[in-house]
Amino acid sequence: MWNIRGRRLSLLIDEETIRKRVRELAKQIEKDFLGSPEEPVVVGLLKGSFVFVADLIREIGMPVVVDFLWVSSYGQSMESSGKIRIVKDLDTDVEGRWVLLVDDILDTGLTLKEIHSFLISKKPAVLKTCVLLEKKGRKKVDFTPDYLGFEVPNKFLVGYGLDWGELGRNLKGVYAVEEG
Ligand code: 5GP
Ligand code: MG
Repeated sequence: MWNIRGRRLSLLIDEETIRKRVRELAKQIEKDFLGSPEEPVVVGLLKGSFVFVADLIREIGMPVVVDFLWVSSYGQSMESSGKIRIVKDLDTDVEGRWVLLVDDILDTGLTLKEIHSFLISKKPAVLKTCVLLEKKGRKKVDFTPDYLGFEVPNKFLVGYGLDWGELGRNLKGVYAVEEG
C-alpha cells in the first residue's frame, strides 16, 4: 500500500466505481448540452481536475472544446484559504458559449463560487458545474453543483488527480489520508 510522508492511505472509492459514475455523469451532460449551438466548452480547474476531465470528456459523445483555468491552491496545507488568484486564464473566448466548469472536490465551496463568478463575468450563454466529490456538511457558501459524482466524508483525500503537496495525483482510486 502507498503511504505519503509516512501517512497511510485508505481506499474510499475504487477505480471501477469512479469509471461507472463518470460515464453516468457524461451521459447526463451530453443530454443537457445537446441544445448548444456551438461546441460546448469544458473548463477544467488545474491541477486537481485533470484526471477527471480526461476521463469525462472521453465519455461525452459529441465534439467539445477543452480548456483549463489555473487558480492558486492550498499548496502544502490542508485548509482552504478562500482566496483565489488566477494563475492561468482561459485561452478560449467563452462569451455566448455553453460552458461546463469541472472541478475535483467541493469542500467549503469558496473556491468554486469565486471561479463561478469569474466565469460569469465572461458572459457564457450557459454555465454549469460538474464536481467529482463533495464533502458532506462542510459548505460555507451557497453553491450547488449541477452534476456531482460522490458525496464524501470530511477527510483529506488524495488520488484521481487530487494531491497532498503534489503527491498522490496518480493513484487510480480516491483515498483518505489517515490520521497520525
Ligand atoms: P473549498 O474552497 O471548496 O474549500 O476547496 C476547494 C479546493 O480545495 C478543491 O478544488 C481542492 O483543490 C482543495 N481541496 C479541498 N478538499 C480537499 C481534499 O480533501 N483533498 C485535496 N487534495 N484537495 C482538497
Ligand atoms: Mg482544486
